[in-house]
Amino acid sequence: MAYSGLLSRYGHLLNLPPHTRTISLLEGDTPLIPADYLSRQLGGGFELFIKFEGLNPTGSFKDRGMTAAVSEAFGRNATTVICASTGNTAASAAAYAARAGMKSIVLIPQGKVAAGKLAGAAAYGARVIQIEGSFDDALTMVIEITNKHPICLVNSINPYRIEGQKTGAFEICDAIESAPDWLCLPVGNAGNISAYWAGFKQYNEIKSTGLPQVLGVQAAGAAPLVIGHAVENPETVATAIRIGKPARGEQALQAAEESNGKIIAATDTQIVDMQKLLARLEGIWVEPASAAGLAGLAIEIENGNLNPKGKRVVAICTGHGLKDPDIVIKDMVKPQVVMPNLSALEEVILG
Ligand SMILES: *Cc1c(COP(=O)(O)O)cnc(C)c1O
Repeated sequence: MAYSGLLSRYGHLLNLPPHTRTISLLEGDTPLIPADYLSRQLGGGFELFIKFEGLNPTGSFKDRGMTAAVSEAFGRNATTVICASTGNTAASAAAYAARAGMKSIVLIPQGKVAAGKLAGAAAYGARVIQIEGSFDDALTMVIEITNKHPICLVNSINPYRIEGQKTGAFEICDAIESAPDWLCLPVGNAGNISAYWAGFKQYNEIKSTGLPQVLGVQAAGAAPLVIGHAVENPETVATAIRIGKPARGEQALQAAEESNGKIIAATDTQIVDMQKLLARLEGIWVEPASAAGLAGLAIEIENGNLNPKGKRVVAICTGHGLKDPDIVIKDMVKPQVVMPNLSALEEVILG
């Protein structure tokens, strides 16, 4: 049967109200790609898979939760959705709202959103508002306004977002017929780590698929869950996880503890190096934040804190590299210019 989207495939396992009316862009069903070269680079002897969430309709995993949240809002005749966003939530909310014939308003931190994300939100017709402040400020504002006015909040504090995002865990278990030994992923506002853990626990109850140990990775300049308190001015190139006060921080810590895993920090250099390595060794280009889970895995292996030998490791690569081309272009060697004839080309290629 043709694939018809996440709510159609997994809706019976999600806690969504009966009034929910499906709005789908056939999100999910993303590939679990073996990464043998990268595994070898990290010492080898273990199976490594990349869950490439950049292949969702708007280029990030946010579409999993957004199909659920917008379908619920649409089903009760809400007319407008709003979110605070580091970029990907904005693009996703705008796309699903467009498809539902609803309006979308997105609040972004001024000057800190990658070009491809902002362009997406604009293309899908969102009303984009820049806040002279951080993501955390923007989130506080959307919570306040939705408490006062009939506008639907679609950040991951919306419980239906988490319901939708559980499907990532279901897909992994369905693909490899059990939970992996380790799950590595970036942590920003901490909705995704919470959703994965909830999803694995639910699948284990109904299908005995087992549970992974969870390695959550924050950027060193935005690592409140590692240092134990909120970060006032979070800074990192990994803009999608540039968050100082994660809304689901407690749940993330609980997921790490219950799974016998942990939450660690990776520096910007470690994150960007992993982004490059993944692209060059495996042909998978992700945005910087999306490489954080793998950067954390490399750190843990290097430090001898995690022995992957004989294990199965899945890394969630949360968003596509195309969303944030600037980071690569900035460091790129300028392409050579050659006269339009064969001998000139021969000269530069063959020397
Ligand atoms: C949103 C996002 C994250 C962080 O997810 P949280 O649920 O906020 O922890 C990581 N990577 C990308 C690409 C994102 O868009």
